[in-house]
Amino acid sequence: MKIGVVGSGRVGSTAAFALIQRGIGGEIVMVDYDPKRAKAEAADLLHATPFAQPMRVISGDYDALAGARAVILAAGVGRSAGETRLQLLQRNAGVFKEVVPKVLKYAPNAVLVIATNPVDIMTHLAARYAAEMGAPANHVIGSGTTLDTARFRAILARTLDVDSRHVHGYVVGEHGDSEVLTWSRTTVGGAPLEEFCELRNIKLDDAARQQIDEEVRYAGRDIIAGKGATFYGIGTALAYIVGNIVNDQRSVLTVCTPLADVAGVKDVTVSLPQLVSGQGVLATFPLPLDDEELTKLAASARVVRDAIDSLDAAGA
Ligand code: ADP
Repeated sequence: MKIGVVGSGRVGSTAAFALIQRGIGGEIVMVDYDPKRAKAEAADLLHATPFAQPMRVISGDYDALAGARAVILAAGVGRSAGETRLQLLQRNAGVFKEVVPKVLKYAPNAVLVIATNPVDIMTHLAARYAAEMGAPANHVIGSGTTLDTARFRAILARTLDVDSRHVHGYVVGEHGDSEVLTWSRTTVGGAPLEEFCELRNIKLDDAARQQIDEEVRYAGRDIIAGKGATFYGIGTALAYIVGNIVNDQRSVLTVCTPLADVAGVKDVTVSLPQLVSGQGVLATFPLPLDDEELTKLAASARVVRDAIDSLDAAGA
């Protein structure tokens, strides 16, 4: 099964590396605006395959994506000196306006997995450009808060001293500062969080929750402060999402996708728990949140909707 990666930078090539390590797919096609970069990454990645999984890894132009089942979009430009957030958004919108039709021209049945930040807005735009090409709406998925949810589970599991696979708690809303940790719906080993803490005699007071909240919410910022970029976590999350698509695995993931209404905010792209299949998103699970979380989710969705509105007003 063929998987494409458009944007062979740090995030795109780390996602390809994670696909190889996990043995997902049979062929990876690396594409980039800079063909030398795509060629070099494809060669480096191919050399890892004998230690992991036999796989074809090639680089090419968009026509090489023909027949791809899933295509990761990690293409983008970084912020240049003096540029505003809106100007950067406009430039990345321009990248997607060019890239999405090119991908769908050759791989019309591919599920697009968006990684470029700000991922909610880029996914909203990708879905718009994909719809213009006649692609089904559920074929556009953004990584959203998939990684934030993983961070929440891992950090909470560390505090509770339990295997993170038995911690079920979601981060929803924007992938960014306004995201919402859904403490009220978190369960551990089938028990509500409070019950589990009582059983295990663990004190998880407001201050402890606040500390976990900040560690999750600002993880990306803190990693960038230390090493300039983040790519292992997001690369692995992207490979996991693609694995769900190629294996029709039906995981519940907090990916982002355009939604008609989120806590009263209309036509917006943010993350909620979604059932992910070989055909992309199958169903949305609207979490029954408490009032405070619902208010925060509405504010988070508003942040994304306002950014889309300002982009539209600027004529993106
Ligand atoms: P990140 O850390 O987000 O991966 P990088 O700068 O390492 O950022 O990678 C972004 C990649 O996207 C670069 O390799 C760049 O050449 C590529 N890119 C930028 N614009 C386009 C475009 N229009 N089409 C395809 N690839 C692009």
